Amino acid sequence: MSDILIRKARVLVTMDGARRELAGADLLIRGGVIAAVGHGLSAPGAEVVEAAGCVVTPGLVNTHHHLYQTLTRAVPGGQDALLFGWLKTLYPIWARFGPEEMFVSAQVGLAELALSGCSLTSDHLYLYPNGARLEDTIAAAAEVGLRFHPTRGAMSIGESLGGLPPDALVEGEAAILEDMIRVVDAFHDPAPGAMVRVGLAPCSPFSVSRGLMRDAALLARDKGVMLHTHLAENDEDIAYSLAQFGCRPGQYAEDLGWTGPDVWHAHCVKLDGSEIELFARSLTGVAHCPCSNCRLGSGIAPVRAMRDSGVRVGLGVDGSASNDAGNLAAEMRQALLLQRVARGADAMSAREVLEIATLGGAQVLGRDDCGSLVPGMRADVAVWDVSGIEAAGSWDPVAALVLCGPQRVRHLFVEGRQVVRDGQMVTLDLGRVVRRQNALAARLAS
Ligand SMILES: [Zn+2]
Repeated sequence: MSDILIRKARVLVTMDGARRELAGADLLIRGGVIAAVGHGLSAPGAEVVEAAGCVVTPGLVNTHHHLYQTLTRAVPGGQDALLFGWLKTLYPIWARFGPEEMFVSAQVGLAELALSGCSLTSDHLYLYPNGARLEDTIAAAAEVGLRFHPTRGAMSIGESLGGLPPDALVEGEAAILEDMIRVVDAFHDPAPGAMVRVGLAPCSPFSVSRGLMRDAALLARDKGVMLHTHLAENDEDIAYSLAQFGCRPGQYAEDLGWTGPDVWHAHCVKLDGSEIELFARSLTGVAHCPCSNCRLGSGIAPVRAMRDSGVRVGLGVDGSASNDAGNLAAEMRQALLLQRVARGADAMSAREVLEIATLGGAQVLGRDDCGSLVPGMRADVAVWDVSGIEAAGSWDPVAALVLCGPQRVRHLFVEGRQVVRDGQMVTLDLGRVVRRQNALAARLAS
């Protein structure tokens, strides 16, 4: 792989310790790693990418998704339902998925993320009907070229046992643990610069047993992998926890080993003050999904209070059945707006949101090798053209990126490999993938 020199950025946002923003700076990529950042760099033989008129940032990091849901966007019965009703509408459709649906829907979701400047994403796959496996999504990520943290999700409490999902979509707990071990052993890479890291992720406290939550935590510690689930998403979720477990979700998580720097929880809209303190103290991470929280009417996550207490927060698009878009740049703007509608116009700045979307997300996912543009870090770099219509007339190009757009990246590099060039995917034929996806959606709807 030849060196790549990104030249003369209008502003290069380093996200280094001093949060430096460098006007007119260059960035040199060598062997998948950032080799140098500075002015007037020279690299004979390097491929040169001109970045005049562009803001250069670390690639965005997506901390929560269900890629398979790109196949169930805007489903009529789920458009206006609250969380539990929404799930009950979609479960029977998801029960008809198989390996092809998982692969193609992941390609679509990953490409959509890439086009919105995302270089590293997690995924939470918690149902495996008709022979679907975690590696269906890993294959898609390898083709698209994103850094990928798939999590082996699971549901084990079906309707007949008082759970929410139909029995056809749940698995036995012994089989779940066996497959968790299989996918960690087969695909998890703990090395710096890893393109795939696997996590363990029972779907939610209302779809698996207390025993599986505990066993998954023990297994994760034994294997040195991370833990992820949904927590405290809305009022129904809190009521279920109080009724079934006799405690709030934070207490339930702590009792079962689900706090710590190797754990991150999606949503956390309803965390109270003591739970925020618990998360801060234990370095437990949060995936904040502002559009999904709006779409399902779940509420406004207390992100300001979390950040002020020292909780690690990243952004997530969440699944495309509850967003229904998968554009991570759009989530930045929505995160800013939501904190402001709750707490006032000074509640969150554009630069803080950009930090949450890059460095914050990398921390939540346990990556100390991604999230900033500093020599030695992996070369995950987003180049945003702010010379177009979206930001025309803006006075501050970095703030404009969040406040105005564009929400589509011009170039994206992951591990030094170009994934998006001039706003188009270079790693796959997007038209063909979209046609295949639409054919699958039509088949599911028939
Ligand atoms: Zn989710």
